[in-house]
Amino acid sequence: MKSFRKIITLNIPARMEFVNITRQVADAVRESGVQEGLVLVNPMHITASVFINDDESGLHQDYKDWLEKLAPFDPSPTRYRHNRTGEDNGDAHHKRQIMGREVVVAITEGKLDFGTWEQIFYGEFDGKRSKRVLVKIIGE
Ligand code: ZN
Repeated sequence: MKSFRKIITLNIPARMEFVNITRQVADAVRESGVQEGLVLVNPMHITASVFINDDESGLHQDYKDWLEKLAPFDPSPTRYRHNRTGEDNGDAHHKRQIMGREVVVAITEGKLDFGTWEQIFYGEFDGKRSKRVLVKIIGE
């Protein structure tokens, strides 16, 4: 069995943003040489997500509005106990929890085996600093 590991580094200038990373993941699959297997993609941070959905800007704005309603940005120590530690990102931990940690995609004949509209996104909820995304591929 082959195994391949790659780190994608992102530095998102906004506090919250979604970035399509499908091409970087497909590049890693090509580099790995794996024809039949699985790829795992996850952020190496607890205030970011990796998820699969449609690359449609209206949907992404809907997500942002929805997440902001569920877990509004509020650096004060009153709304989020987490911010009593001196941090200001209590909201970002909640947003990441809703949007999920990782995705696993099948690799078939050397390609990502997606449904019709599926794309892989990095979801940033506490941006303006460098973040890493792990791509781990196993298979034959
Ligand atoms: Zn925190």
